[in-house]
Amino acid sequence: MGNRRKMKDRYRRFPYLSDIEGMKSAIGEMRGKFFPKQPALNRKVHLSGAVPDMDEEWFVNAITDKILHHPEKGLEYPFYDEPIFDAPLVGFVRGNDPIFDQFKEIIGPHHFTPYEIMRWQAEKNGVKPPAPEDLSVVSFVMPITANTKKDNATAKDWPAERWAQTRMLGEMFSQTFVREIVTDLMNNGILAIAPDVTPIFNKKRYPNVGWASPWSHRHIAYAAGLGTFGMQDFLITEKGCAHRLGSFVVNLKLAPNRTRPDDIHAYCLHYQGHKCLICAKRCPVDAITAENAHDKEACYQKVASSLKYCIKNYHIFIYGCGLCATRVPCESGIPKQLQAD
Ligand code: SF4
Ligand code: SF4
Repeated sequence: MGNRRKMKDRYRRFPYLSDIEGMKSAIGEMRGKFFPKQPALNRKVHLSGAVPDMDEEWFVNAITDKILHHPEKGLEYPFYDEPIFDAPLVGFVRGNDPIFDQFKEIIGPHHFTPYEIMRWQAEKNGVKPPAPEDLSVVSFVMPITANTKKDNATAKDWPAERWAQTRMLGEMFSQTFVREIVTDLMNNGILAIAPDVTPIFNKKRYPNVGWASPWSHRHIAYAAGLGTFGMQDFLITEKGCAHRLGSFVVNLKLAPNRTRPDDIHAYCLHYQGHKCLICAKRCPVDAITAENAHDKEACYQKVASSLKYCIKNYHIFIYGCGLCATRVPCESGIPKQLQAD
């Protein structure tokens, strides 16, 4: 984002051509390109077995500190110095949790297990891949701020400017700070990897599945007990469904700190038999219905078409929507009726 700061207090004159950082971020998200090189493992410390003992608390503090205090934690013009996110929720899931095999069936065989992605990192660094039971996945929820949610709640067709900035800058920021944490761990001899910033990350349209990536932060967050799925497929957490998610794999045994509900829709009013479907009313293209839940293809078409709007009006290269995540009962928390049940 350093380059982006050069914008100062003006918009780009030729946003179609000049938001290079935004274009790189969008292509990276789809095709696993333009990411900085993976940090190298400190093999000497790794092979000595004298790696420092970083525990769950260390990860919660490290991620919280980055989100609240990192120099790149803010939006850009015209919202300078506003934070992108509120304090995060952080959860852990063990690398040998059987849910990762279930993901191969539910999401598809292309979805990495923690072992598969860590094997790639270990082999690149010339060390033996750790066993699945020696791995953990660190998952985190970055809640979108009240200002941004308020703006998007009034949007009817296209995302609000704060929302569009959050979508783009939030993605770049989370990749930046996760890379810093991963680098710190690798310097200390602890194998670590953020799967979504490797060259083997590739988002594709799969038969019977639609658009999918080989590492779903959302499914990982469910696995870590951070939330359950709503009608619009967003994860409803104790801070709501208006958020961005992130996750990375580490060669440490971290204890899960939350209970995962068996019901993957435990926090959605409609699925729990209450009257709602407000997300469906918010969708400008009727991509959510009681009969078919979330039509991913119709949603994708609408979201993709927002690129032109965001470039023209906000001068940034990003697509987004999120109307169904704002002005809904699950926007900022688990709906009250389900908290009381
Ligand atoms: S708005 Fe209602 S139906 Fe839609 S995801 Fe939230 S709780 Fe479920
Ligand atoms: S993200 Fe937008 S297009 Fe997709 S389901 Fe939600 S409101 Fe509809």
